[in-house]
Amino acid sequence: MEEKYLNHGEISLAHYGVLFLDELPEFNRNTLEVLRGPLEDGEITIGRATQVLTYPCKFMLVASMNPCPCGFYGSDKECRCSDESIKRYLNKISGPLLDRIDIQVEVSSVKYENLDSDSIEESSEQIQKRVNMARNIQKKRYEGLGIFSNSELTPSLIEKFCTLDSTGRAILGNAFNKLGLSARAYGRILKVSRTIADLDGSEKILDRHLLEAVQYRSLDKKYVV
Ligand SMILES: [Zn+2]
Repeated sequence: MEEKYLNHGEISLAHYGVLFLDELPEFNRNTLEVLRGPLEDGEITIGRATQVLTYPCKFMLVASMNPCPCGFYGSDKECRCSDESIKRYLNKISGPLLDRIDIQVEVSSVKYENLDSDSIEESSEQIQKRVNMARNIQKKRYEGLGIFSNSELTPSLIEKFCTLDSTGRAILGNAFNKLGLSARAYGRILKVSRTIADLDGSEKILDRHLLEAVQYRSLDKKYVV
C-alpha cells in the first residue's frame, strides 16, 4: 500500500475551512502525528535552513477510514485480513491523534434494498438553518471575548459557559472512568455538548446533550490497540 503524505501548504490552505483526509490510515504515520500541533494551536511552524515560518491553519479536520484494510471487518461480507494486518492498519491512528477528534461515528454499509428507500431525510436547507441558528447563538454569547464558536473555548471559558448540574457531572465522571478519557477529551466533550445544546436551542446543557457528546467518543477505546 502506497503511503499518502500531506504538505504544510495543504494544511495552511485549509485555514477556516475543512481538511478532509480520506482513508486516514493510508497516510504516513509521521504525517498524521504532525497534525497534532496544528489541531491544538491553529498554527503550523515550518523550519527551513535559514528561517522559521509560522502559518495560520484553523481548520476542521474531517477524516474517514475503514475498520480493516479490505473494509469488510464487522460487515456481512467476509473479511480476509489477518489480525496482524488489521493491527498494523489501526495502529496508524495514535491515541493522541484520536483524542483530538471530537466526533467519531461508525457507519455501517448501506444494504442494496435501502439504496432506494422512500424515507424522508432532512434537507440540506433545513440543516443549514439549524447550523446558522446555532452559529448566531454562539456569536452573540461570545461577543467581545475575541472568539466566535464553541470550539475556541479556553479552559476558563469552558468553566463559565459549559456548566453542568449534579446529574451532568455524574454522567461525565462515569464516562470518564469507563472510557479512560484524557483531560483533553473531557474539555472537548463539554464543548461538543455545548454545541448540541445550541443546535437544540437550549440555554442549559441537558443530560441528553451530554450523553450524545459522550457517545461520539466511541472509538477512543476500540481502535487504540
Ligand atoms: Zn478486512
